[in-house]
Amino acid sequence: MKTINIAIDGPAGAGKSSIAKEISSELGFIYVDTGALYRTIALYAQMHELDDQSLIRQLDDIEIELNFIGGTQCISLNGENVTDDIRTPEISMGASSVSAIPEVREFLFELQQKMAREHNVIMDGRDIGTVVLPDADLKIFLTASADERASRRYLELQEKDDCPTYEEIRADIIARDYNDTHRAIAPLKQAEDAVLIDSTDMGFHEVCEEILSLIRTRLDLDE
Ligand code: C5P
Repeated sequence: MKTINIAIDGPAGAGKSSIAKEISSELGFIYVDTGALYRTIALYAQMHELDDQSLIRQLDDIEIELNFIGGTQCISLNGENVTDDIRTPEISMGASSVSAIPEVREFLFELQQKMAREHNVIMDGRDIGTVVLPDADLKIFLTASADERASRRYLELQEKDDCPTYEEIRADIIARDYNDTHRAIAPLKQAEDAVLIDSTDMGFHEVCEEILSLIRTRLDLDE
């Protein structure tokens, strides 16, 4: 049976993951956070202190498993749960760097396509609508200004003990935007047939409602 695939792409901190999570739980779809896959490869490279060439040689030693518990993605690396370990600023930058390696993208491509073949998914990332799922039923390009994305992330992280400053967060977001849009392979860009949503002046629920309404219209689903 053909599965339903929704692609959400956009820059770091645009709210893709929290929005995709909310929408997938509403629709009973599986949420696939593809950034977590690149983060896991970055973690492996960091743990083994690998440069790009050594990482490429060792890709076949990497086994990534995604499990969905109550719709939430848990990720394991060679049998070890790394769901929390991949959420550090170092790994964010590491993911941005390993994601520019063509062999890494190829390695993760099949895994992402397999999930979309087997499940109804909301998949978020940078190249989902352009490369991974060019035939997705609906493509969204979700963005917001860099200042707004940095403020949201700062508010989110403020509770944590070692919260970076607003300036550090903003600099990280701008550096990752630059890397992601300028890499030679699968750069971040809006697919021609994607719907652009700029959430700079929109609330979380407003964005969710807009995307849900687009999905319902596109798939002819009842409210
Ligand atoms: O989405 P998240 O911020 O967790 O992604 C971490 C990094 O992984 C991004 O900055 C980007 O470089 C890379 N990535 C990618 N393609 C995807 C998802 C993430 O290149 N589909």
